[in-house]
Amino acid sequence: MKKLAAGNWKMNGTQSSLAEVTALLAAHPAPTCEMLLCPPATLLTAMAGLAKGSALQIGGQDCHPKGSGAHTGDISAAMLADAGAAYVILGHSERRSDHGETDALVRAKAEAALAAGLVAVVCIGETEGQRDAGQTLDVIGTQVDGSIPLTGTAATLVLAYEPVWAIGTGRTPTLAEIAEVHAFLRARLRALIGAEADGVRILYGGSVKPSNAVEIFAVPHVDGALVGGASLKAADFGAIVAALAAA
Ligand code: PEP
Repeated sequence: MKKLAAGNWKMNGTQSSLAEVTALLAAHPAPTCEMLLCPPATLLTAMAGLAKGSALQIGGQDCHPKGSGAHTGDISAAMLADAGAAYVILGHSERRSDHGETDALVRAKAEAALAAGLVAVVCIGETEGQRDAGQTLDVIGTQVDGSIPLTGTAATLVLAYEPVWAIGTGRTPTLAEIAEVHAFLRARLRALIGAEADGVRILYGGSVKPSNAVEIFAVPHVDGALVGGASLKAADFGAIVAALAAA
């Protein structure tokens, strides 16, 4: 399995930010892991142009479950593909909380992504209250069961475990906690999609940075990272890519 370092720029970045992509590609022209950046939609085409023929893949941050129509402000999976995306992040906790996205909606979006030829990066994760109450495995088990496309394969599905309380906070679970969840997720995926589950990349996300990447990437069943803040700067994201390539 080729591991995946994925960056989520969220609602950050303008044309001038593309200099970071140029710098990333100059420093890491051919990493042994896969490299993905998901910029805001306004930068997709320009970033895809820069990445063309390089080791960098481009992704969207959301898509609509329908292919086209009267849905003001939304973007379809086919439009993302047309703009040069190969991936799309779905069900990020900020989409779930800001826009009330349910597991069923995330699954519908993921099915649309697969139909458009995109790889779906489906995000799940518990809140701090749920972890404190000992509900982590129940919560993420339910999210996985309800959110992933059941036709997903190793080639078309990526799962990202992102504890909500670790996103953008500088806090991370212990390595033992990450190990427990990732082993649980591998088994849950097997129950849902069978042997394909063994090839599905399970990413950890939540305050990954150059200083903690090496230890996180050594945890079993951590097949890469989904990185927010540290993906905005080529030096930081490049260091995470290098750590994953060496893992
Ligand atoms: C994210 O939003 O996917 C994320 C993991 O953010 P950060 O790395 O900034 O915690």
